[in-house]
Amino acid sequence: MTTVKVVRDILEANDRLAAENRRRFDEAGVHVVNLMSAPGAGKTTLLERTIAGLGRELRIGVVEGDIQGSQDAERIERAGAVAVQINTNGACHLDANMVASAVAELDLASLDLVVVENVGNLVCPAEFKVGEHAKAMILSLPEGDDKPAKYPLMFHESRVLLINKMDLAPHVSADPERIERDARAINPQIEVFRVSASTGEGLEGWYDWLRALHRA
Ligand code: MG
Repeated sequence: MTTVKVVRDILEANDRLAAENRRRFDEAGVHVVNLMSAPGAGKTTLLERTIAGLGRELRIGVVEGDIQGSQDAERIERAGAVAVQINTNGACHLDANMVASAVAELDLASLDLVVVENVGNLVCPAEFKVGEHAKAMILSLPEGDDKPAKYPLMFHESRVLLINKMDLAPHVSADPERIERDARAINPQIEVFRVSASTGEGLEGWYDWLRALHRA
């Protein structure tokens, strides 16, 4: 009982901070996407592509969450967007407090879109709001088509599912149809895009979704 109560208190405190973050984003007129996936699914590569594809239309900033290191923030800056790195020092997800201190380093009024690249993990990030307008997730095809059934929460919480690494489809047994069907069974509203962040295939739908979020 005690454990359950403590967990709920942590989540309630986080929700209050997330709501404050959200107010700051709304005041600045910036839309925020919380991007989640397992390690290696292609979050940073997707963001490099997205900056190249949309960076002239939308002013994009990135908050990079990693357990340690700043390689991803350096990649984002080389791609031409402003980036702030958060190191969680072991924590498997970002929380609203960490994101609040990171966005304090950004000039929000000069941005249209901020993507929070969460720590690579298919479980914990889905449990913590950071003040985002929408959650998006990547599942890369080589991870397997059983993942919606095994990790339903992230699929339930996400408005977008990018099935990445479609260029590897001939080499893996995972079935994208099954991923899409099982994801929709968990979350009938989820928007699914089959993409390859490394080749650029299929990304126009994702860009249109981001454009629509920005106009909302
Ligand atoms: Mg990354």
